[in-house]
Amino acid sequence: MTKSTGEKPRARSRVQQFRERMQLRSLKARKKVEDISKEDVKSFLRRNAFVLFTVGAVVFGIALGFALRPYKMSYREVKYFSFPGELLMRMLQMLVLPLLISSLITGMAALDSRASGKMGMRAVIYYMTTTFIAVFIGIIMVLIIHPGKGSKDEFAKQQKIEKISPADAFLDLIRNMFPPNLVQACTQQFKTQYGKRIIKVKMIVNDSIFNLTNATQEISQEEVIPLPGSTNGVNALGLVVFSMCFGLIIGSMKEQGQALRDFFDSLNEAIMKLVAFVMWYAPIGILFLIAGKIVEMDDITEMGGQLGMYTITVIIGLMIHGMIILPTLYFVITRKNPFIFITGLLQALITALGTSSSSATLPVTFRCLEENNKVDKRVTRFVLPVGATINMDGTALYEALAAIFIAQVNNMDMNFGQIITISITATAASIGAAGIPQAGLVTMVIVLTSVGLPTDDITLIIAVDWFLDRLRTTTNVLGDSIGAGIIEFLSKDELQGGDVELGSSVLEENEVKKPYQKIPQENDYENEKPPDSETKM
Ligand code: ASP
Repeated sequence: MTKSTGEKPRARSRVQQFRERMQLRSLKARKKVEDISKEDVKSFLRRNAFVLFTVGAVVFGIALGFALRPYKMSYREVKYFSFPGELLMRMLQMLVLPLLISSLITGMAALDSRASGKMGMRAVIYYMTTTFIAVFIGIIMVLIIHPGKGSKDEFAKQQKIEKISPADAFLDLIRNMFPPNLVQACTQQFKTQYGKRIIKVKMIVNDSIFNLTNATQEISQEEVIPLPGSTNGVNALGLVVFSMCFGLIIGSMKEQGQALRDFFDSLNEAIMKLVAFVMWYAPIGILFLIAGKIVEMDDITEMGGQLGMYTITVIIGLMIHGMIILPTLYFVITRKNPFIFITGLLQALITALGTSSSSATLPVTFRCLEENNKVDKRVTRFVLPVGATINMDGTALYEALAAIFIAQVNNMDMNFGQIITISITATAASIGAAGIPQAGLVTMVIVLTSVGLPTDDITLIIAVDWFLDRLRTTTNVLGDSIGAGIIEFLSKDELQGGDVELGSSVLEENEVKKPYQKIPQENDYENEKPPDSETKM
């Protein structure tokens, strides 16, 4: 009895305490709301204007697109309608080349070889790990959901797809790393083409009827041979390799390299200023890009069951990777809220969604990371251009998933060895894919050929590729950006000026004690971020 009476007042007082705490909290919250002045709202809107415009553009673009669909515009009308979007693409693409080169050169020149080696190692480990995780998710998803039912009846008519052998594709990747002509690399890539030649083969004919001696006869045979060829498009891989080496060299040239360092640094700053202008136009461009695509697309309700399930499987896979795996990785390594970091990237993600091109999004990604998330410029300049060129988690996930889907549609069972082959070739294909719209569809040929799947079956998934491309590009950009955040965190020792590791190469002679040159940050924050830095847009 006594025990229970003693507990009751204690319990009551606890309830009372809780109630009081709640009241206090709600009072504080009310006070906060009351304290919000017009000025605060205005400054919030001003700070987030870009993001608000961009999100508004997406919503308005979708609405406009669906509203215009019933008018059944002709192809020409759709092209005219999407013209403002096309302009955005062209403006962004215009900035990519000088931005990629100048940022990599200055990024590498600002680090000495040991620091860039360490950072590069981290970047490679991050890229490889996340790409393999993405491929794994893709494979698991397609095996669990099993969207392909082993019949091609419901798919549209097939076209012929140009074939390429995986070995040649791999060699092309390496060839493209070393462009013989840098000017040509700005517009063209190497691509093996196939030709035929007639060869004469000597055969021994054994004439057994007349029992004569063996005679040799020459017969003609056709042989398919690889020939050097090229395709249009920037050879980003070659330019990345050149710029990295060039940056490292001018970084180690002491005062002799100063003029070049200043030149590229100034070029980089100038391009970033141009990016700021283009960003004002971005919401309009995105609006028309999205609306135009919605007006143009085929009727979704006519999509076959298998293709629908395939689309859903890809979406689920990309969402798991982008919304669970990457944020968890960021949180586990940096112990910071990944969603605040992702909020800072919203504009880049939406631009990726609108343009389907991670290269074209690169200027916006730079701005988001440097301005909103305050990632060190030495990291972004080094990690982002490389990431946009070779790190494509969304594409890798998609390629592995699509290859197994095509196997399912053809009623072919993949054994463990073939699945491993798909994982490896999907990773290689994602590295080789350019950051341009639907590049992943082209490199899919390598994955399919490697396990003997019919390459013409790529056409089965073309109908939905434009849509999935947007989603995988967004995942690609997210992967690169989170990578920059993680690498910055892991490299903070090297980035701190006080490191006494080496008195080396990149330094000016009068700066020998400082192992790294500091790239001036617009909002210089002396390696220390304000606590709310991530939340500012
Ligand atoms: N469009 C993608 C990108 O730019 C590449 C792809 O087709 O998967 O990242």
